[in-house]
Amino acid sequence: MTLTVLEPATEQVLAELPRAGADEADAAVARARAAYPAWRAVSPPDRARLLHRLADALAGEQEELAVLEARNAGKPIGDARGEMGMVADTFRYYAGAVERNLGDTIPVSGGVAMTFREPLGVVALITPWNFPLTIASWKLAPALAAGNTVVLKPAELTPLTALEFERIALEAGIPEGVVNVLVGPGSTAGARLVEHPDVAKVAFTGSTEVGRRIAAGAAETIKRVTLELGGKSANVVFADADIAAAAAAAPGAVFGNAGQDCCARSRILVERSALDSFMDALEEAVEAVRVGDPLDEATDMGPLISADQRSTVASFVPDGAPVAIQGSAPDGPGFWFPPTVLCPVDRGDRAVREEIFGPVAVVVPFRDEAEAVALANDTIYGLSGSIWTRDGAKALRVARAVETGVLSINSNTSVRVSTPFGGFKQSGYGRELGPHALDHYTEVKSVYYAT
Ligand code: NAD
Repeated sequence: MTLTVLEPATEQVLAELPRAGADEADAAVARARAAYPAWRAVSPPDRARLLHRLADALAGEQEELAVLEARNAGKPIGDARGEMGMVADTFRYYAGAVERNLGDTIPVSGGVAMTFREPLGVVALITPWNFPLTIASWKLAPALAAGNTVVLKPAELTPLTALEFERIALEAGIPEGVVNVLVGPGSTAGARLVEHPDVAKVAFTGSTEVGRRIAAGAAETIKRVTLELGGKSANVVFADADIAAAAAAAPGAVFGNAGQDCCARSRILVERSALDSFMDALEEAVEAVRVGDPLDEATDMGPLISADQRSTVASFVPDGAPVAIQGSAPDGPGFWFPPTVLCPVDRGDRAVREEIFGPVAVVVPFRDEAEAVALANDTIYGLSGSIWTRDGAKALRVARAVETGVLSINSNTSVRVSTPFGGFKQSGYGRELGPHALDHYTEVKSVYYAT
């Protein structure tokens, strides 16, 4: 049985790969389990050196990896380069964490109490297709730094950079069996990892629906689970903001990666008194988005990942939908969809309530600060968001009131190697990146020594 990997910009076949199932999952877990005692015993400075070497090797192949990721995921080459830079930086950051995996000493009577942060064992990493190697690196680097061994199951649509990573890790000196890449469907290979008794933890990024199933499956063996799930983030624009700047930045925040971004600010909430001027400036910005060949340096937005994804996205823009602004997209082969803004749109509309995961935004006006916060929070999700205002106190009040894990003020950036990333509500639990990720790949052990 093989798995066919397509290039979404051309619909051409990029690769045919063996399709792993439950047996291959068992074999990968067995390899990871066998490699675990030796990997956790590698001295901290040596493990740090190996991860630095891996970061160097990834940086050395940045361009090749970027081209492969751009072709397989259909993302603009400039974006792919940035992402591959982040992959190397993530390994460097956690290479530095190996020797800072500190415990505590705690005052007690009759002896000494101390804590250790122990690795978990074999960790399964299950990842989506939108930022294939980037999201994998957010899990791989802290997992390996803490002394775990891993089985990485990339999305079936985008396994190519994960396979390259497995090769690069071996060449950089990471021992055989520490990193195992399993290319196969979620329903067989992925599901087996979730139920496998020798897997200590599942770190998952993907849809809320599959996340729910994974949490339920993992409960059987009391596995540790972290979940990074869907989003429907709000971009809140107050009338006292720099409207030109907010409107110029808004398309990038929802059409980046063709909208296939869990952080997409797909609900643009605008204070009613500024709605007309905002829409005028937004129209200009949306029409300037260049949609086309991912390998063309001038491209801002590529195709969607698949034909299925395109029909899902199209279902949010039926005939008669209130399309206020629409950009252009190429004809011919490729899973293209133009950047689209809906306004005015009913607050109960599917496009306002559901994660679209494509280049479709809604603009919803609000009356005042209280209504802005209520609208922003009127969702099952809570991943990301932005607040645009020149009033600093209001910015902080709203930032504290919005139920979401990652926010930016007068900016739409929310992902950095050194800061925690993750969701509130049904956007998941646990944090990736920053110092907090290590907590999710270690277990605290308390030891008492009678003196
Ligand atoms: P998906 O949930 O369909 O698949 C994600 C991964 O889970 C894939 O590797 C898939 O093979 C695997 N999988 C599917 N069913 C499984 C099962 N029963 N058991 C084990 N594994 C299984 O998600 P997707 O379509 O690849 O990605 C899009 C979704 O991911 C969106 O909802 C998006 O918001 C979310 N996402 C979230 C973040 C975040 O950090 N919060 C980041 C990126 C994407």
